[in-house]
Amino acid sequence: PVNLYGELRKNSMGINFSNDNELKALAEAVAAKAGPWTAEPLVPGAKGNGPTVTVTNPADRRQVVGSYVSADAALVDRALANAVASQPDWDRLPAASRAAILEHAAEQLEARRAEFIALCVREAGKSLPDAIAEVREAADFLRYYATMSRRLFGQPEQLPGPTGESNQLFLNGRGVFVCISPWNFPLAIFLGQISAALAAGNSVIAKPAEQTSLIGYAAVKLLHEAGVPLDVLQYLPGDGATVGAALTKDPRVAGVAFTGSTETAWAINRALAARNAPIAALIAETGGQNAMIADSSALPEQIVKDVIASAFQSAGQRCSAARVLFVQEDIADKVTSMLAGAMAELKVGDPGQLSTDVGPVIDEDAKKILVDHAARMDQEAKLIAEAALDADIAAHGTFFAPRAYEIPSLTTLTREVFGPVLHVIRWKGSELAQVVEQINATGYGLTLGVHSRIDDTVEYIRSHARVGNCYVNRNQIGAVVGVQPFGGESLSGTGPKAGGPHYLLRFAGERTLTINT
Ligand code: GLU
Repeated sequence: PVNLYGELRKNSMGINFSNDNELKALAEAVAAKAGPWTAEPLVPGAKGNGPTVTVTNPADRRQVVGSYVSADAALVDRALANAVASQPDWDRLPAASRAAILEHAAEQLEARRAEFIALCVREAGKSLPDAIAEVREAADFLRYYATMSRRLFGQPEQLPGPTGESNQLFLNGRGVFVCISPWNFPLAIFLGQISAALAAGNSVIAKPAEQTSLIGYAAVKLLHEAGVPLDVLQYLPGDGATVGAALTKDPRVAGVAFTGSTETAWAINRALAARNAPIAALIAETGGQNAMIADSSALPEQIVKDVIASAFQSAGQRCSAARVLFVQEDIADKVTSMLAGAMAELKVGDPGQLSTDVGPVIDEDAKKILVDHAARMDQEAKLIAEAALDADIAAHGTFFAPRAYEIPSLTTLTREVFGPVLHVIRWKGSELAQVVEQINATGYGLTLGVHSRIDDTVEYIRSHARVGNCYVNRNQIGAVVGVQPFGGESLSGTGPKAGGPHYLLRFAGERTLTINT
């Protein structure tokens, strides 16, 4: 597609799921990559001295996937010193040179996709289709930010002025950016944040989620091999309390890109604000309490298909996932009984099998939150359906079978529950305004699904719902880079939208030059 600035950029092709040969070849190549993988901090001039952590497969904890050495506080200090020293030269490189490196990395990522897909399946418990999509999205981010950096950073903007005066606006990197990324998109969001920060001329210290340190390491190595200097992009695996906290309180940090919980975003914001240091940029993409609104003009079959995908794909571990279905009461019985029927068909199990619909959740902590939530819902709500889970599979992995509950109102939910649990609320046709008001009152504003064939209803929702991404008559997950720029507002994040035309600008500083000619 032609982007906003008239440039041609293709999204990654991924794989054709209807071509059995292609699929089989890829599945075999993925199966052949069994690890074990290793990772360590990547900081020129120093080595990691933190504890070594063993990584096991969320689908079967008996399987060791690899191990990584964590960073300690001394390493954080060294990484920051390197990043400060290396940033000005990187910033002074022509934008086109930085862009070419990112594009080269995208090609290499696609060429080596079997290994990255295998890592996503084994370390993050991603289903095969999700892992394939993850590699595609990562390649898209690399290419999209490369294109945007050429456009925005390639040459100064000429501004008007009186005769005898030239005025120019330059964009530049802000300094050292810390990228703290989540385990649910360990490659796409990880590389998205890093490539944006690099494209804008910053040096980067990447801190992966503890759960996906092996994927992060492979991704950083890929960028190094593509040409990013070792001291311009450094890698610090480790726990948030040691590594993340040491980074965000340091006065040398000019900006933080963070994706994760709202609580952690607040903590980072407080840490940055408490420094007697240059005021840092914070780009945070956090959670949601995402709803889908369906009225009686919608097709029940389509509602069910799209709510199943939105709530349960990726085991509900997407910040875009639907948590609440508001269904108009006239069609509610039909929709809930079809939902129960569809949930009985869901296959929960080994994410490496193409027949699997729902893989494991990321770890024991995540599972415990879901189990506790379900225990509360069992008391306070009505169970509509629970997907089947084989006892042998459940015994060895961190699985949680999808569930759907009927609840009286959104106030029953006090926080985002990150997993495959859907809540259903009935509403009366005359209550659209109250439904939208309830959704706005959560304070989150990430995704919203709408199923309706009434234009006025769609327009009312569009103009009253405070959400970043609204999807009508389809599912509400899987935003495509450059097509559905992704990100919310209020408790869901600071903006700008990832994969959108304004993202790079928030990683940049602006300088003008006025010359009396
Ligand atoms: N961009 C993803 C989607 O549209 C969600 C990202 C996230 O979960 O952080 O589904």
